[in-house]
Amino acid sequence: MTSVILKPHKEESLLRRHPWVFSGAIARVVLDSDDPNSQPQEGDLVQVRSSVDALLGIGHWQVGSIAVRILAFGIDELPVDFWHQRILAAYKVRQALGLIRPDNNTYRLIHGEGDFLPGLIVDIYADTAVMQAHSVGMHRCRQAIEEAIIDSVPEVHNVYYKSEDTLPFKAPVEGEKVGWLITNDQSPKTKLIAPLRQRITNSDEFWSTENGLSFRIDWLRGQKTGFFIDQRENRALVERYARGKDVLNMFCYTGGFSLYALRGGAKSVDSVDVSQKAIDLVEANVAKNFPDDPRHHAYAADAFDFLSEKITNHKSQITHYDLIILDPPAFAKHRDAVKNALRGYQRINAKAIQMIRPGGILFTFSCSQAVDKEAFRLAVFSAAAQVGRNVRILHQLHQPQDHPINIYHPEGEYLKGLVLYIE
Ligand code: SAH
Repeated sequence: MTSVILKPHKEESLLRRHPWVFSGAIARVVLDSDDPNSQPQEGDLVQVRSSVDALLGIGHWQVGSIAVRILAFGIDELPVDFWHQRILAAYKVRQALGLIRPDNNTYRLIHGEGDFLPGLIVDIYADTAVMQAHSVGMHRCRQAIEEAIIDSVPEVHNVYYKSEDTLPFKAPVEGEKVGWLITNDQSPKTKLIAPLRQRITNSDEFWSTENGLSFRIDWLRGQKTGFFIDQRENRALVERYARGKDVLNMFCYTGGFSLYALRGGAKSVDSVDVSQKAIDLVEANVAKNFPDDPRHHAYAADAFDFLSEKITNHKSQITHYDLIILDPPAFAKHRDAVKNALRGYQRINAKAIQMIRPGGILFTFSCSQAVDKEAFRLAVFSAAAQVGRNVRILHQLHQPQDHPINIYHPEGEYLKGLVLYIE
């Protein structure tokens, strides 16, 4: 196996169990081949050693600033049941958290570094797992991972692979980046071999349950794995505050917050998203859970236009709300975009604060990993100051338990939110 030898003292972060080796920390790469010009292939398993040849761990080789993502520390070979061990351990955590119940079969099984599997995401929707590889190493291991999921999670019979948008852009990969890895559409379970585009079943009528509410999950065409599981606990908090209120769910996507607000007894709920596809999903989800409920209206509109009251033909005729949820997409995908992102957060929050009735509540979020808690809070502070109203923080929110943060990998923290009381 190829060995990656670090520069002196560059082993310190690995000894503290941080799972990334940056390319700048590498002194040299010793190949397991006689050819002095050969290079490790992206996705190869490599051993990492210190400058004095102490074994540090084993991981997937990558091209880019993160050169190795560590899978295991202190060993030079993965045990044969490695994937089973890790995936079963993650499943047991979700069981212990009480996330697997008759009224809840939607949860994240694997959250990358947070489950000691850097580069891998697996979300569970009823009997189907949707898997995303963010590294070529994970892509190459997809079959073993699928088998471990099927063996470890008794409820799951199908594994759909969706890595078209998540694998490194230029990485040379073999095999399909999207398709079923296994389905149970024929009994007994039939293993299917990629490419499977023609076999993709229609996900239009696929439903999954979160806290007793049904959601149509469209992993084929939808964003990410089809649903934003990470807002589950924050949606439940909206339900607690919704009674008797006029609610605006801005950036609603599949309408998660809207459904919880309706169940919580909201007087009215307006859902807004720029994407018509998202609005179709919200309408389907509301119709399934609250058929013919006159309290709900959905609008395909740009957030800034809507909040600037440029759109005046609201069916509900509401110009001010008692409760607004702002859950925009990541404004900063990279560190160099942080400044603009902060301006964006300030602008959108100022608009929302202006539209809140006295005594109203704002749930405001940022899912940009590059924007930290303090910076986000400062942007919201600036928005409040700009509007000039008394604003108090009621809750500070974050990502849920099935998106755990490895304490040695603080980069895993990305979702933050504030619940504000606006006088
Ligand atoms: N709150 C959602 C997730 C939001 S994801 C949930 O709980 O599931 C962000 C959403 O913002 C996406 O659906 C995207 O279509 C929408 N969006 C992006 N830019 C927008 C804009 N300018 N105006 C309105 N919606 C926008």
